[in-house]
Amino acid sequence: MNANYVILCIDDEETILDSLSMELSGCFPGVELELVQDNAEAEELARELLAEGLEIPVVVCDYIMPGRKGDEVLAAIHAIAPKARTVMLTGQSSLDGVTKAINRANLYRYIAKPWDRDDLILTLQGALESYVQDATIQRQNAELKELNEGLERKVEERTAELRAANAELAEANRTSNQYLDIIDQHVLICRIDKAGAIVYVSEAFCRKSGFERQELIGRNYWQTLYFNLSESRIREIMTTLERGETWQGEIRHQSKDGRDYWVHEIVSPDLVDESLVLGFTSIRQDITDKKAVEELSITDALTGLYNRRHFNSVLERELGRAREDGQRLAFAIFDVDHFKAYNDNHGHAAGDEVLKRIGRLLNERYRRGRDYVFRIGGEEFAVLLTVRRPDEAEAAAAGLVAAVEALELPHGHSPVSPCITISLGLRLISPDEAPVTVDQVFTEADTRLYRAKAGGRNRYVL
Ligand SMILES: [Mg+2]
Repeated sequence: MNANYVILCIDDEETILDSLSMELSGCFPGVELELVQDNAEAEELARELLAEGLEIPVVVCDYIMPGRKGDEVLAAIHAIAPKARTVMLTGQSSLDGVTKAINRANLYRYIAKPWDRDDLILTLQGALESYVQDATIQRQNAELKELNEGLERKVEERTAELRAANAELAEANRTSNQYLDIIDQHVLICRIDKAGAIVYVSEAFCRKSGFERQELIGRNYWQTLYFNLSESRIREIMTTLERGETWQGEIRHQSKDGRDYWVHEIVSPDLVDESLVLGFTSIRQDITDKKAVEELSITDALTGLYNRRHFNSVLERELGRAREDGQRLAFAIFDVDHFKAYNDNHGHAAGDEVLKRIGRLLNERYRRGRDYVFRIGGEEFAVLLTVRRPDEAEAAAAGLVAAVEALELPHGHSPVSPCITISLGLRLISPDEAPVTVDQVFTEADTRLYRAKAGGRNRYVL
């Protein structure tokens, strides 16, 4: 039993209190018994006990007392300790007092004097148990309430967290949808499955290619969009992709309605775990305008020399002019010896530097009004000079071959020389000979270039 329990007994007769004390002692182990004769003191004592942290589970009170009646005393105690079980002792059957006590003090039981000891003990035991049971239920209720409140708090917290996460997700979704929309509208993008079937195309891609989206989805990418490309070009791209590598390059495509457009295209494999190929993604950049400018241009972007296109018109014009003026022309084409080996070993950037250096050399050597220098292919150059005598042309050819070697650009992978060298074919055009076409002159110079190479390179052939 709770060690804080006190049973309060109030009676104006000392003998009654004595007999209560005697009969009850030892019946409720751990529970104290407080006996009060003066009912005015009883309230005071009840307050003191509660203030000390004790509990009053049961109050036993006589009915007939001087001053106040038992029901009034119990009502006063009930106001102080509302949970206490109240028991009234009545000397005569006074139903009036019992009724009042029931109404005002929540009377638990009344016991008639003289009482039967067992009945008294059982009654108080019942009162005590009822109090303890109530207290237990109340404690359990409080615990349940606390548990419930805790759960409610957790639910609220989780709800708030979920709401915040949802808001974040919605915002992220909105942003990524915006990005997807921008990509769709402005980026030429196409996704292809492993078998080559188109699974996604952007709106921008559709506009540029002239196809409707539904005309492309499910169709074979290569057959539908590369129809104007050569087999070998497609094979080159496929081979790169099959190695799991990204292919990129400039391609001239044709739209559905036959318009040509140029793109810089990047096709990369969509990999899982860096090996399993799911499909491919093609991203194209429209470079039609850039290509148009290039086509109008007469200079080669890398070396600044005249380009192949301008070469044709200049050669044609100069052949006619020299014939009219009775002048002699020297036409040479040359290329860099073992240039592929150079690129393979030093990289394309270094290769480009060599070409630029040769371009500068040509510009420095041939500055006269009727001298023309061209880059006509990868590592292939051409020179057109107006000369007075054939030996002047030969000297120019020999000088150029020597000058390139004298640049001392280390090669390291050429059996001809430690340095970069060239092989040159020379064709003289005399005003006396039968008229020749641009193609003839070119082919004949090219044949001599071939002979210069066959003859060991780093030389010229006239
Ligand atoms: Mg009395």
